[in-house]
Amino acid sequence: MTGKTVDGYSWEQTTGVVSGLETDAVVRPPQSPSIRDKVYDAVVIGAGYAGLAAARDLALSGRSVLLLEARDRIGGRTYTVNKDGFLYEMGGTWVTHHMGYLFREMVRYGMDRDLITTGSPDMHKGYYTMDVPGAKPRKLSHEEAGAMQAKAWDIFVNVDGQYGRTLCPLPHAQLNNVIVGRKTVEKWDQLSCQDRFEQIQHLLTAEEQGLLVSLLLHISGGDMKNSSLWDMIRSHALLMHSSDNFTDVWLRYKLRSGQTELAKRMFEDARARGADYSFSTPVKSILQGKTKDDLVTVTALSGQTFRARRVVSTIPLNVLKDIRFFPPLSKKRQEAINIGHVNQMTKIHADVTNPELERWNGMRFPGLLMYGYGDGRLPNGRVHLVAFGADERETFVPEKNPELVVESFNKLHPMDIKRLIFHNWSTDPYSQGGPAWWQPGYMSKYQDELQSRHGNVFFASADWAHGWRAAIDGALEQGSLSAQSIDHELAPGRSTAVESKL
Ligand SMILES: Cc1cc2nc3c(=O)[nH]c(=O)nc-3n(C[C@H](O)[C@H](O)[C@H](O)COP(=O)(O)OP(=O)(O)OC[C@H]3O[C@@H](n4cnc5c(N)ncnc54)[C@H](O)[C@@H]3O)c2cc1C
Repeated sequence: MTGKTVDGYSWEQTTGVVSGLETDAVVRPPQSPSIRDKVYDAVVIGAGYAGLAAARDLALSGRSVLLLEARDRIGGRTYTVNKDGFLYEMGGTWVTHHMGYLFREMVRYGMDRDLITTGSPDMHKGYYTMDVPGAKPRKLSHEEAGAMQAKAWDIFVNVDGQYGRTLCPLPHAQLNNVIVGRKTVEKWDQLSCQDRFEQIQHLLTAEEQGLLVSLLLHISGGDMKNSSLWDMIRSHALLMHSSDNFTDVWLRYKLRSGQTELAKRMFEDARARGADYSFSTPVKSILQGKTKDDLVTVTALSGQTFRARRVVSTIPLNVLKDIRFFPPLSKKRQEAINIGHVNQMTKIHADVTNPELERWNGMRFPGLLMYGYGDGRLPNGRVHLVAFGADERETFVPEKNPELVVESFNKLHPMDIKRLIFHNWSTDPYSQGGPAWWQPGYMSKYQDELQSRHGNVFFASADWAHGWRAAIDGALEQGSLSAQSIDHELAPGRSTAVESKL
């Protein structure tokens, strides 16, 4: 039965902004019974995809597991709102058979075949609108816009004359593969998107430049100077070094039953294997002794404590600065955490009455909302739109200024908006940003450290994944790898859950 999370917002002219959204991701009751007195093999912090994968895999291996989550729901930066018979993806959305960890989960739960496409099947009958500096705003075909975007993107990512093949042949092993030396990668990692743009700008028309820059900012959620070029090269490598795969691999397919259905199946699987859980339980500190045999104590904001032989923290990069660790984290990791990542992009859904927008895509740069597209019909006949915008904190906090959102949508294309639905990932204390995009030089300096363990605490997050960083697949990768390490490390055999002596 669909519940209501405290997360997210909706807006209608008559109601104004209302907090909380309907979703099947809410867990009731929020705690499993009698969790306090046990020492667990592992406490997993965070019930996003990284935490769900870690908890489920450990439970399947016969380990005793406690899953702690600050929110009242599963899914973290990926969840599905179910409102008036329509599924709205609030965060992570697109899936593909080309993401190994994700495909495995889709197959495991029988969800690999039941996919739907973004937009309308006869999108070609619609149109694209473009409004960029130095060119007259105009309407064009999707085909023409797609060709312009592909041309600009190809020039941008073709840093070595082979579309990144010589620099990033194995995107799941960027810093430590034997084919390309680390020094070469580190050199390229120092560059920003702005550095690269200045090298190739003269090859592009004003429209192509506008299209490229808005695309880069849409992907990174930062600005041109603080967005790493390497992360674009890595992304292109994951698209098999070809812009032909850009849409099919990255932006086309969705789970028909929604992301929350997949997350729920993982959670139910963990629960069926005995995993305990406690939702609405924000963690404030993680303490451990000096040896591998010492237990780790996790303390919640409420003061409640939980003990385990190992901990998997999936707390996002931009949130980690709020957690106290003892012994303290290494200086390098603290430095990395203080810098954080740059992605502050907001995703907003709108229900509109304009039928012509069902097959529309629009781009306006610069603008608070830079991209919008039609994505299906609602059961009540209205058209569903999705748009992405930069959150400059002071000026664009959608929940505080919905009128500015409506105005920004209308700058993309005139429309009659009946409802907005959104989650502000930037003002959310448990994400403090969208999917992680790193600054120039950050990977070379901090990736190894972020992936490393801290005593008996393992760190797993899409924010520092090997391959599909900033994606669902990266979260699953990290959760699975940490579960595997912990299971190997703990003595083989049955669960070691014991009653506390305290
Ligand atoms: C708008 C948007 C669009 C996206 N689109 C796509 C896409 O189309 N395809 C794709 O593959 N990926 C996409 N992503 C990225 C993807 O959703 C994320 O990278 C991935 O879901 C992150 O998973 P995670 O488990 O690492 O982190 P999270 O999902 O953030 O999970 C971490 C969990 O830790 C919890 N937590 C935080 N602090 C505490 C605390 N103190 N105590 C206890 N719990 C805590 C959080 O509440 C959260 O549930 C998108 C993300 C966003 C925001």
